[in-house]
Amino acid sequence: MEENCDVLVIGGGPSGSVAACKLLKAGFSVIILEKLEFPRFVIGESLLPRCNEILEKNGLIDVIEEQGFMLKPGAIFIDEKKQEELIDFRNNLGQKWGTSYQVKREEFDNVLLGTAKKRGADVRHKYEVIAYDNDNNKVTATDENGEEKVFKARFVLDASGYGRVLPKLLDLDIPSDLRLRNAIFTRVEGETRRKGDNEGFIDIVIHDDNKAWLWGIPFSDGVTSIGVVCEETYFEKTGLSLEEFFDKVINEHEYLKEKYKDAKKLRPVGVINGYSSAIKTMHGKGFALSGNATEFLDPVFSSGVTLALESSDRVGDLIIKELNGEKVDWQKDYEDYMMIGINVFREFVYAWYEGKLRKIFYAPNKAEKIKQSVASILSGYVWDEDNYFVRSSKQKIDALISMV
Ligand code: FAD
Repeated sequence: MEENCDVLVIGGGPSGSVAACKLLKAGFSVIILEKLEFPRFVIGESLLPRCNEILEKNGLIDVIEEQGFMLKPGAIFIDEKKQEELIDFRNNLGQKWGTSYQVKREEFDNVLLGTAKKRGADVRHKYEVIAYDNDNNKVTATDENGEEKVFKARFVLDASGYGRVLPKLLDLDIPSDLRLRNAIFTRVEGETRRKGDNEGFIDIVIHDDNKAWLWGIPFSDGVTSIGVVCEETYFEKTGLSLEEFFDKVINEHEYLKEKYKDAKKLRPVGVINGYSSAIKTMHGKGFALSGNATEFLDPVFSSGVTLALESSDRVGDLIIKELNGEKVDWQKDYEDYMMIGINVFREFVYAWYEGKLRKIFYAPNKAEKIKQSVASILSGYVWDEDNYFVRSSKQKIDALISMV
């Protein structure tokens, strides 16, 4: 026997939970099918101020503020000579939110999904979506006993992140234009922490003439997430194991060696690769994709959860319109809108790997307005047309390079 609902959400990550909260508030019934039991580990722990704005808009900021997550006021870039460049999100172009949080995602995602449940979402853990009948808008999932269950929905939202459920089932995936990179990561405790005004910033450490970079994300319980990002070939040609490679990079960099000299690893070094993804379309008859199930660029500017929340907020509004019988221009109002922000980040990611941004960040003679514009972009305000970098981002970055 099939079950019915207004909206069937695939995946209980931040994207699925935020969209669900919006739909529930508008009075629609929502079932969330989540493959795993929560809390579950997922990478992507450093948020941007734009996330707070979306959480606030959807009545979710209070539950997040109550958790005691580490406040994140910005990013500090550290080069091979230990020179630091601090990007303070509070020095933005006048946006309200100038800070965000460093979060263990198993905790953050659990709070969001739990809140969606409290607000009325029917959340089914250990339900893995395996098939989608687009003609009849029916989703098939296996439950924890391996039994197949069928759900019929007026609308299906795929928020399955790296699961990429509908892109795989409907053949919507296309290769990303970004190179194949590895993220080799662990969690540690006991390292030397930044204190006072510089507490809570994410470290972005440049290694070996930009051939690799590392994140350092401090959590409020004293644990820090660290990861090395490099092209797959850079890791492979060393012939080292993940643990050996990770230790080598830490010991080769003066700043890292000093900072992590007393640190103890709390989990084996893991790897994620081939994470950049792209998509033919973000929508179709009776369905849409949100969050990482659409396009994922690169971890360097911590844009993933921000784009995931932005897309859920947007897609939620459009689903409400459609279910209320209004006409929706999905291409213009959803995909084209999302691509504006994604493409700004894309140009920043390219400019980072080409070494251009490094020149801008470390230039001593930057005008205040440029500093604010950079801080604003890196805060996730990538739709702000008053920002110098938002339109024709590549040309603007190149023009600035020739000036600094
Ligand atoms: P997810 O968080 O992946 O949630 C999707 C959910 O769907 C999961 O719970 C999964 O179990 C479920 N699911 C999957 N398949 C199925 C199925 N068949 N049936 C039912 N459920 C299913 N982002 C940041 O903002 N900051 C960072 O610092 C950051 N660092 C990153 C570092 C690396 C190395 C990488 C690769 C990414 C990073 N990201 C970061 C990106 C971030 O991880 C994602 O953008 C974010 O998790 C997307 O959220 P989501 O809700 O779309 O998907």
